[in-house]
Amino acid sequence: MKFGTTAIHNGISPDTATGAIMTPIYQTSTYVQESVGNHKGFQYSRTGNPTRSILEANIAAIENGKYGAAFGSGIAAVDCVIKMLHPGDEVISTNDLYGGTFRLFKTIFEKYGIKFHFVPMGDLIAVEEKLNKNTKLIWVETPTNPTMKIIDIVAMGKLAKVNNILLAVDNTFATPYLQNPLDLGAHIVMHSATKYLGGHSDVVMGVLVVKDDNIAKEMYRIQNSSGAICGPMDSFLVLRGIKTLHLRMREHCKNGKAIAEFLVKHPKIDKVYWPGLPSHPNHEIAKSQMKDFGGMVSFTTVGDKLEDALGIVKKSKLFALAESLGGVESLIGHPSTMTHAAIPKKEREAAGVTESLIRLSVGIEDEEDLIADLKQALS
Ligand SMILES: *Cc1c(COP(=O)(O)O)cnc(C)c1O
Repeated sequence: MKFGTTAIHNGISPDTATGAIMTPIYQTSTYVQESVGNHKGFQYSRTGNPTRSILEANIAAIENGKYGAAFGSGIAAVDCVIKMLHPGDEVISTNDLYGGTFRLFKTIFEKYGIKFHFVPMGDLIAVEEKLNKNTKLIWVETPTNPTMKIIDIVAMGKLAKVNNILLAVDNTFATPYLQNPLDLGAHIVMHSATKYLGGHSDVVMGVLVVKDDNIAKEMYRIQNSSGAICGPMDSFLVLRGIKTLHLRMREHCKNGKAIAEFLVKHPKIDKVYWPGLPSHPNHEIAKSQMKDFGGMVSFTTVGDKLEDALGIVKKSKLFALAESLGGVESLIGHPSTMTHAAIPKKEREAAGVTESLIRLSVGIEDEEDLIADLKQALS
């Protein structure tokens, strides 16, 4: 089965009680048992809820995995992965990680004795240098935020295999439609379903997908023991979102390309970050591991002035000023004063997040209208 068919059908069947074609929202905390120990597979909704279970099966299918687990946020899903580790264990990750993941690693898990190394992951040697007998996990995010660096998942998978450690990939920006890390050597895939999977900016959720039976056991044990689950209503919304993921992603990619190409030619624009551009430093790796290049585009203006960026962000109308991404509507953000404001200026600028850097989450409105809006905002 191809992607669209899998997304719409896999893991989903009409409700056995009523025939309802849409998965019902099982808004219940508990389940009546016929006699002690004699139940229909559900006992308590932290452990399992039918709406959530169907979502978990569906997301596992579109990521070419076997087991899915859904959480109350993307960060709660990351939290579950790190809870698989023990004090003394070490993790190697990228130096331009999603800010919330960085905060979770540094301010929560470091005090429990887990050590984190943040390296430029484009450089395989930088990763190898940090590997030692305590390393248990490589945590990858690709494309990265907001400068769209691409990390070679196959290369990381080989490194993980040789050293007998886990590889986890945050696949939020690419989505399962564009990239399937489990096929490239990863053991765990994580998503902030808040973004493209939900796709309509109306839910906060995270998911994990794995293939291995033992990792799955640990994942479900932590999901149930830590309790960071999502509710049935949110599960329903993400299930509905996934049904159109392939259609939405095609439009996000098409519009992302049109806007990246418009920006490259604009006299006021300096750098354009979109992995589909042949000039992008990781374009070849992007081509080898992604089906297309997504709808996230960042750029800087000539002279790199803060006032210019603030002016553009203020003048754009269709592109709404907001954090987050992956919804049908286009958003515009200014990382150095918004999402990345907490990072010290020197480190921020070294990662490419300079004063004029603007990040776009290109939506699925009509391409002509989006370009016209940017044109007037840049005038
Ligand atoms: C948003 C995001 C997260 C965190 O997800 P939440 O749903 O906000 O908790 C993690 N990684 C990436 C790449 C994200 O964009």
